Amino acid sequence: MSEQKKPLIDEEGLRTDGRKIDEFRPITITLGYLRHADGSVLYQQGKCKIIAAVFGPSEVHPKHIELPDRAILRVRYHMAPFSVEERKSPAPSRREIELSMVIRNSLEPVIMTELFPRTVIDIFIEVLQADGGTRVAGLTAATLALADAGIPMRGLVAGCATGKVEGKVVVDLNDIEDKEGEADMPVAYIPTLNKISLLQMDGIMTRDEFKEALSMGINSCMKIYQMQVSALKSKYGQVEAQAKEEE
Ligand code: UDP
Repeated sequence: MSEQKKPLIDEEGLRTDGRKIDEFRPITITLGYLRHADGSVLYQQGKCKIIAAVFGPSEVHPKHIELPDRAILRVRYHMAPFSVEERKSPAPSRREIELSMVIRNSLEPVIMTELFPRTVIDIFIEVLQADGGTRVAGLTAATLALADAGIPMRGLVAGCATGKVEGKVVVDLNDIEDKEGEADMPVAYIPTLNKISLLQMDGIMTRDEFKEALSMGINSCMKIYQMQVSALKSKYGQVEAQAKEEE
């Protein structure tokens, strides 16, 4: 007798990890996680574990690629070989090269690159453990590492995926939902500019489902944004208080 497959959403409307359809995974933000980077974070969203590190603005090598009016943004999204079920080659894949570009394009509207002409800002996103939604989690983490490095920005970028699983619009798909669901739609939003900076879709949704997914995605991004702000306030609030004490 063939084994019955476990549903992705049960009769009570709960998902494989016990979440409701509009609930994202628990998030933990550890700012300044690395000693040698100018800014860094360990970002955990459920089972996803991602480190983002920022260096710069620094001198450009080779010199001829520098830009006279702004800083170059260099982004590397990389998955560690042990981050996925089947060992991944450490060499950058086409997917990683594309995601590095997608993340760079999503960060560009907020970073005040015009303040640092002829320099480069390097952003490294290292996925230590993947469980779906790593591009948006990586983007959220990169934004935090940039803020931690003191790079001036017009706002923060917060990302969260939405999609469709067993006919229902859900938020923050995990790996199994991403692979077995009907659609996956990563969304990133910049609350201070009221702009969407990333919107991709893999799969099929109706127009109404798309609208619902987008509004659910923006809603989650807003909540993640509040978490970014509160993590930054709690670290830099302490630094400020310490500086005042020393005065
Ligand atoms: N994945 C994998 N091996 C790879 C790339 C991806 O196992 O080389 C898994 C991983 O869990 C990832 C998921 O597939 O999170 C979904 O990948 P996708 O390209 O949709 O990006 P993501 O949802 O992580 O942004």
